[in-house]
Amino acid sequence: MTGTSMGLTERDRARLWHPYAPASPNLPLWEVEAADGVRLRLRGEDGARHEVLDAMSSWWSVIHGYRNPVLDAAARRQLGSFSHVMFGGLTHAPAVELAERLAGMAPSAPGRPGLERVFLADSGSVAVEVALKLAVQFQTASGRPSRQRFLSIRGGYHGDTFAAMGVCDPVDGMHSAFPGLLAANVFAPRPPAAASATPESVKAWASELGDIAAAHSGELAAIIVEPVLQGAGGMHAYPAACLTALREAADRHGLLLIFDEIATGFGRTGELFAADHAGVVPDIMCVGKALTGGYLTLAAMLCTADVASTVSGGQAGALLHGPTFMGNPLACAVANASLGILDDGGWRADVARIGAALVSGLSPALKLRAVRDVRTIGAVGVIELHDAVDVTAVTAAAIRHGVWVRPFRNLVYTMPPYISSASDVQQVTTGMVAAVTEVHERVSARSGGPA
Ligand SMILES: *Cc1c(COP(=O)(O)O)cnc(C)c1O
Repeated sequence: MTGTSMGLTERDRARLWHPYAPASPNLPLWEVEAADGVRLRLRGEDGARHEVLDAMSSWWSVIHGYRNPVLDAAARRQLGSFSHVMFGGLTHAPAVELAERLAGMAPSAPGRPGLERVFLADSGSVAVEVALKLAVQFQTASGRPSRQRFLSIRGGYHGDTFAAMGVCDPVDGMHSAFPGLLAANVFAPRPPAAASATPESVKAWASELGDIAAAHSGELAAIIVEPVLQGAGGMHAYPAACLTALREAADRHGLLLIFDEIATGFGRTGELFAADHAGVVPDIMCVGKALTGGYLTLAAMLCTADVASTVSGGQAGALLHGPTFMGNPLACAVANASLGILDDGGWRADVARIGAALVSGLSPALKLRAVRDVRTIGAVGVIELHDAVDVTAVTAAAIRHGVWVRPFRNLVYTMPPYISSASDVQQVTTGMVAAVTEVHERVSARSGGPA
């Protein structure tokens, strides 16, 4: 059978891969028939339709909602001009404007060089690859060619390409699948959890970090971390004071400091960038995900003028990267429109309002025996279970309550679009708590549950 005689999900199963999935996974697949504002219209494989709130912002990206009129207009305007041109030897207004906007909004602090130079990449993982390359090229150009490895913290996630995988958590990441191919990097412990950290525990962590950096400094090019919130590695929030310790360790040992703000950037944690919680400025920063408001794939790597000029003056004479779709004009035009919406400043009140609603709306989950922890940071809310989530059952239960979630490991979490209304957020939290209760509470009640 081909084409229209088969259902869409059947045709999908015959041909496509999905994220971290086997071919033809025996798991439910939902067809998106429409998306508008914060809502998706899904069609199940039984033909039933469900209108759901997107509690995931399509993996952190759709911060201004689907079919946003400002972003739609920006895309249409650029389509009427040109959609793509190569970036070698050519330039265009959308890319230049985007670089100026990003440099203008990037973390800054008195007496610290700002992030002035922008490399446009086509996805978050690629931006991380470019950041890591840049750091190694910087050390080589500075006369320290033995510095080829990276220091990261456990529990991190930085993408799926090889160098990025190599700085992901060495246990939960994908290291064991590619033992011969991933660089041997250096890992410090995960910083203490924000909710329970004390000045002493932060100090103890900082001192261990300093010891590790000192022991390996001769072989390390840079430190790379997700500032303040580790996302796909476990939704772990940690104190902003740890960023100051990371900055100090990097400075003391001649390492560059790379902040991967691909998930945390553009307001999600309550500051424009997570680095701003501590007033720390990295040498290199990566952004992606929400950059185009979830319309097109685009990411960026920013660095200081000093790093840029050192690498450019090195033997290679250039930063050794250049994707075909670098600086795609359509994506840049939509990114400019998305950053324009952020410029208006309403995001700050929205994130605070959504965050407060997540705190109160998710707190009933703390009473559930299946639940180990409930935590929020900015407009991110997390229910952590004792055991692995039954993803299929929780997803289906949440859909029955009108909410789209995509749990992983033992986590059911949400980061709603900034345009979510009070009643939207309430529906999200009610749906999440109900889904966890329906699927996991009965099981843990029957088995006596964890102590
Ligand atoms: C999603 C993510 C990436 C990878 O971005 P892709 O666009 O999926 O390649 C890297 N780092 C962090 C922190 C992320 O959340």
